[in-house]
Amino acid sequence: MVDFGFGLSKSSAVRLDQVDLSLYRKLEVLEPGVRTCMSCGSCSATCTAGPWSGMSVRKVILNLQRGKDVSAMMQNCMLCGKCSMVCPRGINTRHLILSLCRIYGERK
Ligand code: SF4
Ligand code: SF4
Repeated sequence: MVDFGFGLSKSSAVRLDQVDLSLYRKLEVLEPGVRTCMSCGSCSATCTAGPWSGMSVRKVILNLQRGKDVSAMMQNCMLCGKCSMVCPRGINTRHLILSLCRIYGERK
């Protein structure tokens, strides 16, 4: 085989039919507003913890919808509530984070 100095990257395709949505479904029950998120990014842009930690409610929601674990990212949240004030859909993002903490707490 010829070495071209590069290789193929692992596929980053998301198989939505195979992802585990159990966490997201539990969150929908506790904070139904999560269904209305339109991924605008306002919460990320205003996040107090975002600049130094990469914290983003938008990413938290997207990752949950892809069946990924978000517990590490959530630990950066300071529960300041700024994201709740700017969400154009009126989602109580602070309550969303608290609900997720509760769900993770129940899993232990
Ligand atoms: S501001 Fe609200 S609608 Fe926009 S990405 Fe954040 S949670 Fe979703
Ligand atoms: S409550 Fe958490 S996610 Fe929302 S702006 Fe504050 S630090 Fe960021």
